[in-house]
Amino acid sequence: MTNIPDNSWWYQKELVEEEARKFDPRAKVKLKTGWVWKMSDALTNSATAIMDTVYFPADWTWAECCNKMCHEVRGHVKQFSFFGFGNPKVGIVLMTFIYGLLFFPILLAWGRYRIELHACATEWEHFFRGQKGFKALEDYILNEWAPHQADSISGKMYVYAVPKFWARWGYNRKAKKVIAKVKAELDQKS
Ligand SMILES: [Zn+2]
Repeated sequence: MTNIPDNSWWYQKELVEEEARKFDPRAKVKLKTGWVWKMSDALTNSATAIMDTVYFPADWTWAECCNKMCHEVRGHVKQFSFFGFGNPKVGIVLMTFIYGLLFFPILLAWGRYRIELHACATEWEHFFRGQKGFKALEDYILNEWAPHQADSISGKMYVYAVPKFWARWGYNRKAKKVIAKVKAELDQKS
């Protein structure tokens, strides 16, 4: 067993599990232990969803895990389910192909780009709706959050999926769409 720090989410596993189930009742959570996760820093220090399970690093707090849950579960677990015709475990086949190989692993990894963009858009929407369209959050999504995630997908962490200008443009465009959608929905309610 790897070292598990005192403030690890692992000691509040029930809380984290409960949060995962909010987004999909099938979702499970596990610790990132073992050599596979140590292959790169990007893997060691991030959350990763595979099929119906989200793996979190041992040194994350439960709050950090919960913060990422929408992206991982409503984003990625649902994607595994979608590409598995309703079964996230079957989805591994198509997801691996799309995420890794479509069209080319570096700079033209359109599949990886689209899959991450979709998961990011899912979390922007979730938080923006939760904050009832708060203007400061709108600004944050457009000026900080989306650009940061765009740089991430076009950087080392995601093996340079697409060129940076492409990711910046696409993430900005998608963020504007998500914001407009939530605003329209909120306008209708009021
Ligand atoms: Zn992701």
